[in-house]
Amino acid sequence: TADEGTVRVALVGLGEFSRDHVLPALAGEAEGTGSDAPTDRTSFCDITALVSGSPEKAESVADRYDVGRTLSYEEFEAGEGVDSFDAVYVAGPNALHLDHARTAARLGKHVLCEKPIETSAERAREMVRACEDAGVTLMVGYRPQVEPAMRRLRDLIRDGVLGDPVAFHGWFTGHILDGAGPDQWRLDPDLAGGGALMDVGVYPLNAVRFLLDADPVAAQATTSAPDAEFEGVDEHVAFQLEFPEGATASCTASYRAQADDRLRIVGTEGQAALNPAFDSEIRPELTLEVGDERVAYTGPYVNEVAEEFDYFAHCILTDARPDPDGRDSVADMEAVEAIYESAETGRRVEI
Ligand code: NDP
Repeated sequence: TADEGTVRVALVGLGEFSRDHVLPALAGEAEGTGSDAPTDRTSFCDITALVSGSPEKAESVADRYDVGRTLSYEEFEAGEGVDSFDAVYVAGPNALHLDHARTAARLGKHVLCEKPIETSAERAREMVRACEDAGVTLMVGYRPQVEPAMRRLRDLIRDGVLGDPVAFHGWFTGHILDGAGPDQWRLDPDLAGGGALMDVGVYPLNAVRFLLDADPVAAQATTSAPDAEFEGVDEHVAFQLEFPEGATASCTASYRAQADDRLRIVGTEGQAALNPAFDSEIRPELTLEVGDERVAYTGPYVNEVAEEFDYFAHCILTDARPDPDGRDSVADMEAVEAIYESAETGRRVEI
């Protein structure tokens, strides 16, 4: 149990990310890139239950990873098997995160919720409230925040190495839904809450808030969906955010473009770039240019998923508030709503 140094986690939703990334990472089977990349496993948590709408899939995954308990969504809601886990990992379509988090909170279980937290700021606030009222920990799974190079970059910015931050550029593009088919929940605005912005644009949005340790005060944006299959959600999005001290962030996200994810930040005294910035498996390179000096830093390989789960478990075991917590994601959702409003009205929207 949590008191004995291990947090027992129930995975809710056995989608692609749970099966291909979370379970292998927690079992110490995830492949890293580079010859020096060790396989990681978690020290402070174990998967002890699987919640799924598909009993066959749940059984076969449970066999594969030696997980003791499988539950349907109905059994989970009814509190069956409640003694087999201390915390819940909420994956699955964005619009279902709140219901599962509420169930977990009602059962007195801590919540690690996948990004984006939900489909709106109001639903994000409801999740924060439910977890606070129940006295359980809520963390949102922005894995790049545990990446050593991203954290090193944040320290450099905090220490003023780049001078005053002036401009941030970030993007996350890819052929993300190629071959997914029309039934894919990411194409359903009710289940996804939006398109490329909600799915991948939130990474540069969350990263710039993390790096500057500030929230944007206004947004301007353009969205488009030139291809028929993306009707109803944004296929491409470009947005600009203004920060209180005058810095700006210009970000691009796309469901149908050459795969790329990186960021660059320029300040009055220097600039830095992170490439790739948001990939879960490739170790990023941080380059820093100050005056005539140029240095490159590649941190130790870290399996971000294992690290994120261990950090979440460590917060529970030490009764610490996680960073990013649920409130951090409310700020993301407030920016997302301003971005969509600006794209719709063609106006600059204050946040
Ligand atoms: P998938 O489409 O692969 O899987 C979603 C799973 O949710 C399904 O397999 C199903 O699991 C469950 N589900 C329950 N109800 C529905 C429904 N009505 N329609 C579809 N699926 C349903 O999604 P992903 O694994 O790619 O994404 C899940 C979450 O994880 C999202 O919030 C996403 O943003 C996030 N994510 C995070 C990443 C990261 O790097 N941190 C990367 C990728 C995704 P079952 O059959 O077991 O019930």
